Amino acid sequence: MSDSRSTVNLNNQTEVESALAALCDEKRIAAEKGNEIRANQLWRDIQALKVVSTYVTAINNIKQQKYRDAWCELEQCEIICKFLSENSNKEFYNSSGADFVERYVSKWQSLYPYCMFISPAMVVGYYTCSICEHKIRPRSRCEHIKGRIYNGELCTHQAHDLEIREVSIVTKPVQKYSVIHDDETLDFSLLKYLCSHINNPFDEWEAHWTTKNFPKERFHSVGEDHKCPCQSGNKFGQCCSSKAEIEIPHVDFELKNGLNKNAEVERFPY
Ligand SMILES: [Zn+2]
Ligand SMILES: [Zn+2]
Repeated sequence: MSDSRSTVNLNNQTEVESALAALCDEKRIAAEKGNEIRANQLWRDIQALKVVSTYVTAINNIKQQKYRDAWCELEQCEIICKFLSENSNKEFYNSSGADFVERYVSKWQSLYPYCMFISPAMVVGYYTCSICEHKIRPRSRCEHIKGRIYNGELCTHQAHDLEIREVSIVTKPVQKYSVIHDDETLDFSLLKYLCSHINNPFDEWEAHWTTKNFPKERFHSVGEDHKCPCQSGNKFGQCCSSKAEIEIPHVDFELKNGLNKNAEVERFPY
């Protein structure tokens, strides 16, 4: 099973689950027999199927305007891709679809309006190796390397006796799950617009970030105290309100399969 996309219907959750369960069974048997090469290959097949199916779920959730769910699924894809790329060759990574997912996850993330995250600072009591359960100390390590696969299992260092010391708000988090915005107050129009043109999650597209000028009259609904539409972060009254034309960020989408004629027309947000 080198290309999981061609054998499993990724829109069918039950089918994906049972394909994953079958692969896990096969991996367990290979591991028990000590066939490490086979067990490791099955680990790759499992991760590849997980990453493409999670990506499909994310895009379907964006289509259904479940932006926060999709955000977390895109984050999961990013993590799976990282471990898979470290443990497979280029050929497998590309042909399994993981390379596509890695490239498109960051493209979709760039269309989100999220910019603030909670980042907890933790103190860890101690770590253990997930393969041999060895307690890791500065001068006592086991032979396993974090992030590598051994007999079909990924080696991770598991944290114990965690204590949260402080929580800070950051713009570039290590993990992206803890968004602090209220989705109701945000503008998801880029995702909405792009989604209405995408028929298949594996459609290819490009986003070109530019700016566009609009006459000031078109911003009559923006108050002096509101954030400036140019997105400088300043108040309109102290930024562009005296200009004849206001330059606002604009995204041009280029779709490989062309624009969908029935899709919704682009919206001017003011
Ligand atoms: Zn170990
Ligand atoms: Zn401005």
